[in-house]
Amino acid sequence: MAASEIIKLMDRSEYYLDSPPTTDHKKTLQGKTVINLFYENSTRTRTSFELASLKLGANVINMTVDSSSVKKGETLIDTAMTLNAMHPDLLVARHGDSGAVHLLADKVDCSVINAGDGRNEHPTQALLDALTIRRYKKNLAGLTIAICGDIAHSRVARSNIYLLTKMGARIRAVAPATLLPSQIQKLGVEVYHTMAEGIADCDIIMMLRLQSERMDSALVPSKREYFHFFGLDSRFLALAKPDALVMHPGPMNRGVEIDSVIADDIRRSLIRPQVEAGVAVRMAVMESLVA
Ligand code: ASP
Repeated sequence: MAASEIIKLMDRSEYYLDSPPTTDHKKTLQGKTVINLFYENSTRTRTSFELASLKLGANVINMTVDSSSVKKGETLIDTAMTLNAMHPDLLVARHGDSGAVHLLADKVDCSVINAGDGRNEHPTQALLDALTIRRYKKNLAGLTIAICGDIAHSRVARSNIYLLTKMGARIRAVAPATLLPSQIQKLGVEVYHTMAEGIADCDIIMMLRLQSERMDSALVPSKREYFHFFGLDSRFLALAKPDALVMHPGPMNRGVEIDSVIADDIRRSLIRPQVEAGVAVRMAVMESLVA
């Protein structure tokens, strides 16, 4: 996606974020059907897609894998074909395998939004993160953004790296070697193996969850030790710019990747604004695909 298209989506999201609900919003997707198909757990993403669909007047169906025929062994493709035969206008899909949402998109006639596929991408999260940063820092270009923690398993990190570098930010990947994907430098980021060096003088610190469910073996010695070396606490935060702000896509492991005091400090933490931006961003994205 070109930078100009990203800016257009962010501008439209900002409009939705700042304007009270109107009857015109409700007409945007009136009569349209959105199906949320989530093969992995979700709190923020699924709820915000549902809320965004309702705010735009769409009919929403939430398919959770636990109560669907997936439990009876139906393949992803068969599920896709079945849903396709019901003629939805939009599918919002999350899957544990990288590339699965792309495969699904090839099989159905409607637009498909990737709500997270494995460790690959989570594009609407990156958009809402970028919008949140832009609102607080005015500009993305020229900022130094440290993405810290379990980058190897993080689709949020990957999508943010693509988007934020395209918008002219400097990205630092800060993680122990075991939690960095190989060849990460090829994505145009600077790599740091200590928090002290990685965070020094940066504008934004984006913490990531330790994604134990995607690890085949223990990649960190213990959660306690991980927090000591890679958890964001006041020692490390003090090394960033004095006006540096902190982000986390959620769900957070308090005391593992971030200290509660920082997560809850409304002068430094953007965690709540990130969630607020999520609904508006998803409204803008759905509108751009269906309206
Ligand atoms: N909620 C984000 C995701 O689905 C981040 C996370 O799970 O740690 O990727």
